[in-house]
Amino acid sequence: MLSQASIQSVSFIDGFLYNRIKINREITLQTEYEQLLQTGRLYCMKMDWKENMPNRPHQFYDSDIAKWIEACAYSLATHPNIELEKKVDEIIDIMENSQLEDGYLNTYFQTVAKGDRFTNLKDNHELYCAGHLIEASIAYYETTKKDKFLNIMCKYANLLCSIFGPLKGQIHGYPGHQEIELALVKLYGITNEKNYLDLASFFVLERGRQPNYYDLEIKNAKSHITFNNYEIPTLKNYAYIQAHMPILEQSEVVGHSVRALYYLAGVADVAYKTNNQQLIDACHRLYSNLVEKKMYITGGIGSSLKVESFSFDYDLPNDTAYAETCAAVALIFFAYRMFLYEKDSKYIDTLEQVLYNGLLSGMSLDGTSFFYSNPLEVNKHAVDMDVLGLKSHMGYNRKKWFGCACCPPNIARLLSSLGQYVYATDNHDIYINLYTSSTFTNKETTLLVKTNYPFDETININMNQVSNSFSTLYLRIPDWCNKYIIKVNGEIIEVPLE
Ligand SMILES: [Zn+2]
Repeated sequence: MLSQASIQSVSFIDGFLYNRIKINREITLQTEYEQLLQTGRLYCMKMDWKENMPNRPHQFYDSDIAKWIEACAYSLATHPNIELEKKVDEIIDIMENSQLEDGYLNTYFQTVAKGDRFTNLKDNHELYCAGHLIEASIAYYETTKKDKFLNIMCKYANLLCSIFGPLKGQIHGYPGHQEIELALVKLYGITNEKNYLDLASFFVLERGRQPNYYDLEIKNAKSHITFNNYEIPTLKNYAYIQAHMPILEQSEVVGHSVRALYYLAGVADVAYKTNNQQLIDACHRLYSNLVEKKMYITGGIGSSLKVESFSFDYDLPNDTAYAETCAAVALIFFAYRMFLYEKDSKYIDTLEQVLYNGLLSGMSLDGTSFFYSNPLEVNKHAVDMDVLGLKSHMGYNRKKWFGCACCPPNIARLLSSLGQYVYATDNHDIYINLYTSSTFTNKETTLLVKTNYPFDETININMNQVSNSFSTLYLRIPDWCNKYIIKVNGEIIEVPLE
C-alpha cells in the first residue's frame, strides 16, 4: 500500500491550484468562520440553546463546525496562523465543557431532542456528525500535535464502541448517513485501537442485512427528523441510504450520492485493513458502475436534482444535474483510497477529472460563495420558475451559505489538504499523481516540479537525493494522454509506441 504525502511535506509554488488554495486559506476560512458565528452554530455548541431562541440547531450543525476545523488544521500545518489556531482552540474548549460524562457530544441531541439519542439512526445524523468530529480531531492532532480534541473524540468513540456492535445488549444499527466508517478507520490508524476498526467493519457489513435494522427502528421510533421546525416523514426507501441489501450483494451505485461515496470510501478502508476480498470485489464492481455509467464528464455524480441521488444508468441530464459539491469531495476520497491500496493510476485519472471540474466549480474565484449543486448548464427561466421547489440549492449564482451548509466547509477542507493527493510514497519511492508547481520533501529526497499545467502539458522535475538510498520516481501518465516524451537531463529515454 502507498502512503499519502504528509501535508507538511508538500508546498505549492504557483499556478492554477496554488491560487485556489491561497484564496481558500486567506479568504474562505475566515468567511466560513463568520458564517458559523452568525448562524449560531458556534454558540449552540455551548449546549444552552432553548426553545424560542434564534438559530435552532439542526442535525448537521456539528459537522459544519468539524469540517471547518479540519480545513483549518491542514492550513495551519503549512501556514501557521496564531489567530486562527486560537479560534479553533476556543471551540475545542467549548466542546470539552459540553461533552457529557459518558463521552456523548451532539448539539442537536443535547438541546433540541434531549433523551432521543440513538433512537432514529436512519433519519438523524448523529453518527455522521460524530464521524466528522473524529476526522477533524485527527487532522488537528496530526498538524498541531495538540491532543485535547483527539482525546475528546476517543472518549466519544469508546462510547460508540460500547453501544454499537453485534453483541447482545448492543444496538445492531448503523448510520442513516454514512461517514463514521471512514473516520473510525482513520482513528484506528492513529491510535492502533482495534475496537475502532471492528466497529467500522460492523457498520459496513451489517448495513442492509436481514432482518433490516431500520424496520425495527421505525416500529420503535421515538423521534422524527425535524429541519427548520418542519417534521420530515421518516425515510422508507432503504436504497436511498444504501441499506436495501448488503454491500457484498450490490452491483450498482444507488441512492443519495454523498452517502454512497462516503460509504464506499469506508468500505475500501475496511476491505483492505481486514483483507476482505469480497469487499474489495464490491469496491471494483461499484467503482466501474459509477465511472462508466453514472458520472458526468465533469466528474460530477448524483444526477437527480429532486432527491440528490443517482438515477438509472446513463441518465445524466445537463440542466437538472445535482452533482453536489460534497459528492465530488467524497468521490475524491474513494478514488484516492483505491489508488493508495492498488497503485492503479486510473483512480487518479478520475480524481483529477473531478478535482478540476465538478469540485472546483463549487467555490467562486474569490472564495466567498458556493454552489451546492453543480449543473452543466443553467436555464435562467427554469430556475426562476423553480418548478422543482429547490431554488435554495439550485441556481445560477453561488450562495454565501446554506441552511444545510455541508458543501462550503467540505470544499475548504479538501483544498486545504490537497498536498496529500499530489504525491504518494512507497518506502523510498515517490509517486507524482497530480502535476502542479510544487515541492515535495522527505528525509531522502527533494523534488521541485515546475509547470503551467493544466494550461501547458510540459512538466519540469528536479530531483535531489540527500541520502544514499535510491528512490524510484513514478510519473502518472493520464489515460487520456496517448503521446508523451520523457527526457532525463535533456536526453530522451522513453517515447510510447504510436
Ligand atoms: Zn454538500
